[in-house]
Amino acid sequence: MTIKFAPLLFALFLPLSLSAQQVAPTAPATPPAAPATPSAPEPAPTPAPVPAPPTVPDDGVRVSVLGYHDFSETAPETEMIIRTSKFRKQMEAIKNAGLPVIPMADFQAWKRGEKEIADKSIVITIDDGWKASYTDAYPILKEFGFPFTVFLYKNYVDGGGKALTSDMIKEMQKHGATIGSHSVSHSYPGPHRRKGAEAYVKFLRTEFGDSKTFLEEKFGGRVTTFAYPGGIHTAEMDPLSKEFGYESLFTVLPGKIRRSNDDRLLPRYIVLGTHDRVFELATAFNEVAGATAGRNQELAPQSTPFPVKPEAGALVDSRLPLLSADLSNVPDLDPKTLSMKVGGFGEVPAVFDEQSKSYSWQVNRRLRSPVCQVAVSWLDSKGKPPEVPLRWSFRVDAEAAYLPATPE
Ligand SMILES: [Zn+2]
Repeated sequence: MTIKFAPLLFALFLPLSLSAQQVAPTAPATPPAAPATPSAPEPAPTPAPVPAPPTVPDDGVRVSVLGYHDFSETAPETEMIIRTSKFRKQMEAIKNAGLPVIPMADFQAWKRGEKEIADKSIVITIDDGWKASYTDAYPILKEFGFPFTVFLYKNYVDGGGKALTSDMIKEMQKHGATIGSHSVSHSYPGPHRRKGAEAYVKFLRTEFGDSKTFLEEKFGGRVTTFAYPGGIHTAEMDPLSKEFGYESLFTVLPGKIRRSNDDRLLPRYIVLGTHDRVFELATAFNEVAGATAGRNQELAPQSTPFPVKPEAGALVDSRLPLLSADLSNVPDLDPKTLSMKVGGFGEVPAVFDEQSKSYSWQVNRRLRSPVCQVAVSWLDSKGKPPEVPLRWSFRVDAEAAYLPATPE
């Protein structure tokens, strides 16, 4: 397990991440109740322009949005299932640090420039609609008086088994819960996008539109927030999310939010049950001072489940590095399904070495951006994607541009 943390040029991180995000699932597992949609390797992304957000003066405020999924005191901890007692400790830590937990409505009002909030604020979100949101997390949130947002997807509400019921949701609404949409079916865009533009837009219209209508009719109020299933955003979503009146749309890319952040690509720290460091970074705001003094740098946590080169967050002095992932510890890997995508390149012809089990690609055109993102995906022999996607980024030393380069 390699865990590295390094400053990232946050302003550059978002636009870069977009191309990778368009095709690479970035997140957490689809809940079992949803039809599993394997993230098969896909064709190189079609570049879709996303206009840069307007420049908003920085008021110095940083907001950390925490994303949780499922909770249990007894089930084995996984990325998606956090110990209930650990969750309680985290809420205590927020309280002890004096960090205000603000309602989603306050966050949105601040974002619109209509409200001032504390310099360091926390927003709590819980995805999918697991019953444990009610049985485990809610009593703790209520006790601490922390508001929170549940991102629900239509097909799982009242879905039986481990799903939340409408009554539970309504009770939570009376005590601090806001409802956001997490789509209708929680399926990832890939397979729908491959069916062509028209079919894809039709699919998106249902996912954005029907989920909103359903949630508003069932639970009242206006639904203006959306969490992309798997954190995956594609440019085709933007006109539809706008049409349906979504104001704040969340990814799973870690990072603090400032007022100027694009509302369609809001960062969020997915607090994994097995990676305490994510929570620590999400609630550490001391880097912000250095960030504003420096070049808009923000710390983003990076952890890769398997060793990679260059290491996550590393600063490399070559614009033509070798990118590789050591996959020797991947259980049941089907090498035929391997795919590597690199920011600015799309899918690249990486090669799998059967002997060393490393999957690598030699960058063949000089990297021009200060941050390079890499995503490696695969399926196992049963056609399942890995639980935690292998994505990382590293930085390229600006000075490297002036070093003698190997011939391109
Ligand atoms: Zn989800």
